[in-house]
Amino acid sequence: MKITIFWHRRDLRFQDNAGLAAALQSGHPVLPLFIYDQTILEKLPKNDARLTFIFDQVERLAHEAHEVGGGLLARYGRTPDVFRQLLKDYDVAAVYTNEDYEPYATERDQAIAQLLEKEKVTLNTFKDQVIFAKDEVMTKNGKPHKVFGAYSKTWKAQLKPNSFAPHPSKDLLKKENLARPKSGDASRPTLASMGFGRHEQPTPPVRLPDVPVVKSYAEKRDFPANNRGTTHRSVHLRFGTLSIRQLMAQAEELNEKLLNEMIWRDFFMMLLWHFPNTATEAYDPKMRHLPYRDDPEQYRAWCEGRTGYPLVDAGMRQLNETGYMHNRARIAAAGFFVKQLFMDWTVGEHYFSEKLIDYDMSNNIGNWQWMAGTGAVAAPWFRIYSPDSQQKQYDPEFAYAKQWLPEFGTDAYPAPIVDHRFGRERALDLIRKGRK
Ligand SMILES: Cc1cc2nc3c(=O)[nH]c(=O)nc-3n(C[C@H](O)[C@H](O)[C@H](O)COP(=O)(O)OP(=O)(O)OC[C@H]3O[C@@H](n4cnc5c(N)ncnc54)[C@H](O)[C@@H]3O)c2cc1C
Repeated sequence: MKITIFWHRRDLRFQDNAGLAAALQSGHPVLPLFIYDQTILEKLPKNDARLTFIFDQVERLAHEAHEVGGGLLARYGRTPDVFRQLLKDYDVAAVYTNEDYEPYATERDQAIAQLLEKEKVTLNTFKDQVIFAKDEVMTKNGKPHKVFGAYSKTWKAQLKPNSFAPHPSKDLLKKENLARPKSGDASRPTLASMGFGRHEQPTPPVRLPDVPVVKSYAEKRDFPANNRGTTHRSVHLRFGTLSIRQLMAQAEELNEKLLNEMIWRDFFMMLLWHFPNTATEAYDPKMRHLPYRDDPEQYRAWCEGRTGYPLVDAGMRQLNETGYMHNRARIAAAGFFVKQLFMDWTVGEHYFSEKLIDYDMSNNIGNWQWMAGTGAVAAPWFRIYSPDSQQKQYDPEFAYAKQWLPEFGTDAYPAPIVDHRFGRERALDLIRKGRK
């Protein structure tokens, strides 16, 4: 029997899934597939919390599919090898999947499309994880926007009444539209079989954020001590356990500020797709040869939350302990790293990439470059936040500091590792010297 394969990647849900809805209307029974990509996994620490999250979601999907009379196939290996084997094991009419805009994913998908084409199987891709992708929102001259304000204005002007309309994937998920894995494929890889241990970190439930949180978002979002000031849905947007359209529709109805923040996500994904080189180098060519400092002791103090600046330290402890950090603390920690310590933004970005459960390459790189003043966005390199003023503004009672720094207020809490005014002047001086 010919089947259609639906390949899940950053879309670990059946609800409102663009590619899955199309696959379920392809005329062939659909076999959902998830590949634990060895090339990605072998770079991860053996207790990576994201893999535990992914594993749990894949298992959840497998049970959901089973309950409606289908199943889910999960395999571990190098993606091309997995597909070569699948083409031998199943009579595949087509493969459907949702687009992924990261550089590695783009290359991988091109290779898989070619591999499938040789066997006369098409790879059909769909936009799912953003509202506008690639070159859908451009300047009047047909260039990618480099300024967020102008991008956001064009983005909003292009919205249509059905831009957030859900895809009927869940309704179509019925026994008659589904295929089942062959008996030899019934067992799926486990964390242990892939050489990983379980590491659970707290994640919010897979549902829309509570209405009061969304309604008060604009007033409360900047205060990290308040755990209900923001939605905490970044991990679900990262892995597609929630649909961006559902979240956007809720924000459009209840809080425009939240809608605006989520547009940043589309913006950064668009930038990385157009400029994949910026994964490792500054968008701004003038800023590619700055004389960044290397100071292992100060680096370690930053990683461990021992800089003597409570907002920075509390943020880093929150990150190390939970895999999450409040946006205000991310700004403070990254700003301190790239300016007061004047260290290379790619080093800080890399540390975040290993720890954040919501790590998203485009968001992380876009925001780090924004903080470093090296980005496409109009964040002037000479704007340097003072960690003291940020503390006063966003955590005036030190409530967030006390949540994460048990030794705060005692002699055990360190003095600042760098005077921030000195750090500021040094950064300005070194940028002036290094800027081409
Ligand atoms: C240095 C730095 C690194 C960051 N790295 C990441 C990252 O790896 N992954 C990530 O998802 N976000 C990243 N962010 C953006 C932001 O801090 C998080 O999205 C947010 O804190 C997640 O919490 P929330 O879901 O409660 O956000 P909310 O404030 O409730 O926002 C809702 C959603 O909007 C999106 N969003 C909000 N702010 C931004 C932003 N500035 N840029 C892009 N998208 C945004 C996120 O998807 C978020 O889940 C980074 C920010 C900074 C300053």
